[in-house]
Order: sequence, then structure tokens, then C-alpha cells
Amino acid sequence: MRILLVEDDELLGDGLQAGLRHCGFQADWLRDGESARIALQSEDYAAVVLDLGLPRLDGLGVLRALRGAGNATPVLVLTARDTTPDKVLGLDSGADDYLVKPIDLDELAARLRALVRRAGGQAAPILSVGGIELDPAGRRAYRDGTAVELPAKEFAILELLLRNAGKVISRGQLEAALYGWDEGVESNAVEVYIHHLRRKLGAERIRTLRGIGYLFEKPA
Ligand code: CA
Repeated sequence: MRILLVEDDELLGDGLQAGLRHCGFQADWLRDGESARIALQSEDYAAVVLDLGLPRLDGLGVLRALRGAGNATPVLVLTARDTTPDKVLGLDSGADDYLVKPIDLDELAARLRALVRRAGGQAAPILSVGGIELDPAGRRAYRDGTAVELPAKEFAILELLLRNAGKVISRGQLEAALYGWDEGVESNAVEVYIHHLRRKLGAERIRTLRGIGYLFEKPA
């Protein structure tokens, strides 16, 4: 799952990016608010982790610009200041959740999963469609109750397809979910991962709509 991390502290940003990756999040990392504001106009993220104290444009400014543009991407605010006015201001400005530094990585990952889940209208932590189950927290997948081994990128593709079951997802959207800015995209990578997923889950579950994208069949 691709998220945007906005944090100007090099050490903390570096640690969060690596830690989030370990938890299954591809985090694009930006160090100032203005860059974040611009990125959020063009890129599609599952969620944003936003520091409040940022150069060029502070976190609240980013948040107001985002919500002002009608963008409902879930935002979790990081604050160094454990003061009630800061949290209230953040939430009132459109944040969905907040964490006070120092950040507990497991808690951050769990809160992000909850935000993404709620944004997708799902209250249950397990994604389940037509006999395929995915547990994003435990990084486990099942086919008709039997565990299936999925490497991280196959897992990421399946997670995006399941969250959008019955809807067409373009190859570009799948590529964006797979890769951060620091990684190149191999031209046929998505096709290869889809091929592996079909072999493991059953060929009929994922449909190819030529020239448009992919669709995870939702049983009637
Ligand atoms: Ca800061």
C-alpha cells in the first residue's frame, strides 16, 4: 500500500520510511509541506503521515489545502507537542487521527491500517472476497481457508484488488501501489505478479480488461 510520509527530521523520516516498509507500506518521503501539497495534487495515496512542524508550509497548511481541494485521503498527524490545542486544531483541520512523538512504529502501522480500512468502508480487519481472505495486519493470505504464500509485492497487488473488488484497477494504479519514487518500474512487472497470483488463487478470480486494467471478480 502506497502512502505519503511528510517529515523534515532526517533521522526520524529515515526510520519511519524503513519501518513502514517492513510493515507493508511503500512510503514516499517528502521533507517539506509545499512539496507535499504539490504531490498530493497529482499522486494517489492510501494515506498520509504528516508532521505538523514543517518548513515552507506547515502541516496544518498542507491539511487545509488538501481538504479545501475536496481530497478525502486519510491523514494521520504526527506532533512533537503533546498539547491539547495542537491535537484539536489538527483534527478540526481535517486530520483523521494523530500520534504524539516519540512514535511507536507498530501503533502507527495499526492506526494506518484502521484509517485505510475505514476510508474503504470496511469495518472488518480481514478482507474477504469469494473465498480469498487477506489479513493485512498479519501479512497472511488464504484460499478457501488454506494459507497461501505471497511475497510482498504480490500481497500488495492482491490487497489493492480486494479492497476494490468488482472495480477495474488500471495497471498504472497497481504500479503506483508497488513502487515508491526511489524504485524503477519494470515494464511487465504487474503482468508477472498477476500471473503468479492467478496460479496461486485460481485463474478465474482476476480478470484482465485489455487496455483498461484488472478486476477481482466479486461473487453475485
Ligand atoms: Ca518537524
